[in-house]
Amino acid sequence: MDAKQAIEFMNQRRLDCIVHGGIETAFAKHYDLAISALSKQVPMKPVRVNIGRTESITDGCPVCGWHFFDAKPYCMSCGQKIDWD
Ligand SMILES: [Zn+2]
Repeated sequence: MDAKQAIEFMNQRRLDCIVHGGIETAFAKHYDLAISALSKQVPMKPVRVNIGRTESITDGCPVCGWHFFDAKPYCMSCGQKIDWD
């Protein structure tokens, strides 16, 4: 099972918790936390972002928009894994 499959599995379990209602609804928050953490491990391509008033374009984090000045494996701001290939 890879990270994407694990996220899909947890999303389904999360929905099951919500459908059951009651105390099960509280468990959905645990899945939210796990899904959020695991999603950062699935590499995403950087996006093109504008750096403020200088109007120069650079690579940025697809999640939070952090500007990369060099190719780091993870976003320094939010921890998202970046796919530079
Ligand atoms: Zn980020």
